[in-house]
Amino acid sequence: MEAAQRTISVLGSTGSIGTQTLDVLSRLGPPYQLRWITCNTRWQDLAAQVERFKPYGVAIRDADAYTAFKQATSFSGPILCGEEGLSQAAADPENDVVMSAMVGFSGVVPTMHAIRAGHQVGLANKETLVSAGQIMLPAVEQFGATLLAVDSEHSAILQCMVGERTADIDRFIITASGGPFRTTPAADLERVTAAQALKHPNWSMGAKITIDSATLMNKGFEVMEARWLFDLEPDRIDVIVHPQSIIHSMVEFIDGSVKAQMGVPTMLVPIQYALTFPHRAELDVPRMDLAALGQLTFEPADQDRFPCLRLAYEALREGGSAGCVLNAANEVAVQAFLERKILFTRIPTIIEETLSHMEHLSHPSLDAIVELDQESREFASTLTLRP
Ligand code: NDP
Ligand code: MG
Repeated sequence: MEAAQRTISVLGSTGSIGTQTLDVLSRLGPPYQLRWITCNTRWQDLAAQVERFKPYGVAIRDADAYTAFKQATSFSGPILCGEEGLSQAAADPENDVVMSAMVGFSGVVPTMHAIRAGHQVGLANKETLVSAGQIMLPAVEQFGATLLAVDSEHSAILQCMVGERTADIDRFIITASGGPFRTTPAADLERVTAAQALKHPNWSMGAKITIDSATLMNKGFEVMEARWLFDLEPDRIDVIVHPQSIIHSMVEFIDGSVKAQMGVPTMLVPIQYALTFPHRAELDVPRMDLAALGQLTFEPADQDRFPCLRLAYEALREGGSAGCVLNAANEVAVQAFLERKILFTRIPTIIEETLSHMEHLSHPSLDAIVELDQESREFASTLTLRP
């Protein structure tokens, strides 16, 4: 029997996850039809993707990039612009699956449009759940949408949960590589550079998530993401450092049994699983060689040296708008660090100061979240003026 056709749109197709998604789609072949691809400013990369993958249409967030793309290419499909354009692509009734692979808060509104259209959403853009999880999950239910994890840890949990009941879960154990500063003494963290922070030991990713991995904010975000994707309380979501990144995460059940999902670190596996779920398809990736690895090791995550992890747990327990403020302040601080304006150790203090300054809303609407994101950015930006 021939596989049913699936129509896919990729939001953020020019990024690390976006390009790997297009790679997986081209390997999966004809049943998968590419509908929309989108970018922010890198319109030349988008133009190259148009040539190679022949999508139905494109959406470009940045107005100058949109104009440049229109002038430089002879693409005959629809070309949309701005956040409205991205949202229109996300909501297109022809989509079966929308891959949300934009970075940061910019993904919130387009992802909400995909959810409100009732689509299956492959979610890489974890900041959307960090900022607006309490709004998104009820919307998923209301509009009959599906959220499928793309993050490797959450894909691991999803794979461990096949055939299991939610009521039988005791806790999640999310693994962390520990990042490039896993063994750096606290006193030396002040002096680490952006170039050092951008050298992740196990994964090649976009700049923002690579810095989040160095501060362990990425792990904090993943705890928050797990809370929303699988509806488990924060106290039952643990983090453990596992430098080899072979175990992608674990689920412990009420009888003490623990399931782990393993494999070489590559995002191609979780990306493909989100597209073929609940089935699997062949994938030509390096295979795990335990004898060559020799050992898998584990150590506790150090919340004193990496306060961002503690801040994420605190924001999750506080609930309401705390996640939105945490994310906004983090985006501003990470950007300032990448631009060499602040020290690495200033990232958590800027976030903490922003969290204590901003008003707390216990049941914010989407509009309130969008407004609070902007206000938090403005406040955090004033803090980046001090190194
Ligand atoms: P990249 O920075 O590599 O790519 C981001 C994509 O989003 C690009 O297509 C970019 O366009 C687009 N984009 C950026 N800003 C905006 C904006 N303001 N409006 C519209 N589009 C925008 O990021 P990654 O692929 O690394 O990460 C994407 C998401 O996936 C993040 O949320 C990250 O946390 C998550 N993730 C990533 C993993 C990885 O291995 N990379 C692993 C697990 C999760 P342009 O190219 O024009 O800038
Ligand atoms: Mg991850």
